[in-house]
Amino acid sequence: MTPDSALVDRVVASPNHGERPDGRVPDLIILHYTGMVSGEAAIERLTDPASSVSAHYVVEEDGRILQLVPEMRRAWHAGVSFWQGSQDLNSRSMGIEIVNPGHEHGYRPFPDVQMRVVIELCRDCGERWSIPPVGILAHSDIAPARKEDPGELFPWDQLFRAGIGHWVEPALSSGGRFLMQGDRGQPVEAYQGLLAAYGYGVSIDGIFGDETRLATVAFQRHFRPQRLDGVADAGVIATLHKLLVSR
Ligand SMILES: [Zn+2]
Repeated sequence: MTPDSALVDRVVASPNHGERPDGRVPDLIILHYTGMVSGEAAIERLTDPASSVSAHYVVEEDGRILQLVPEMRRAWHAGVSFWQGSQDLNSRSMGIEIVNPGHEHGYRPFPDVQMRVVIELCRDCGERWSIPPVGILAHSDIAPARKEDPGELFPWDQLFRAGIGHWVEPALSSGGRFLMQGDRGQPVEAYQGLLAAYGYGVSIDGIFGDETRLATVAFQRHFRPQRLDGVADAGVIATLHKLLVSR
């Protein structure tokens, strides 16, 4: 297998991939953390036929890039997921696994060298496939009930300043009204409408239940990581507004 990017240090082919149906090309990049004790353990799993998981790339903590699956092929990284009305996100995405032990094994800041390389890799893939800035997402954005990666320590602001992804300066919560689990009615429905308009998989039913709370936490991890309480306070809602008008 020939690497698709000049940035690749090493190819470690994974058998875990398939056809992209109907000649689909990627228009999303999904960022993950590996969430295992070591990079080696993660690479072993992502290349083990019995695991049925993979990704196109792995970025090590020291900045080395491994390619596991050709970009033309459908890698198996997203699982059950939803974004902007579509469900089979593996078919339309690139998956990049970023080595970090994750919340279960000692979540820690992503080293600068690793982030510089993630930025270059996103730029390289993004340019080759014309992926829009709003198409660079966290695994938690597309699977809020199951996933928390790459998590609240991931520096989305740093990526944005380097021209990667979509981000706005988070609005501060100024007190005032907020919506939380158990709330019902038109304001909840309006808030769900905003989340869904951005892409999150929430039903617009006016009931602030688990689904809306978990989507709110995912939103907070990506766009307002100062507080991960699943409460749609004025800061969360204002940040969501700013994102929607700046797409
Ligand atoms: Zn993931």
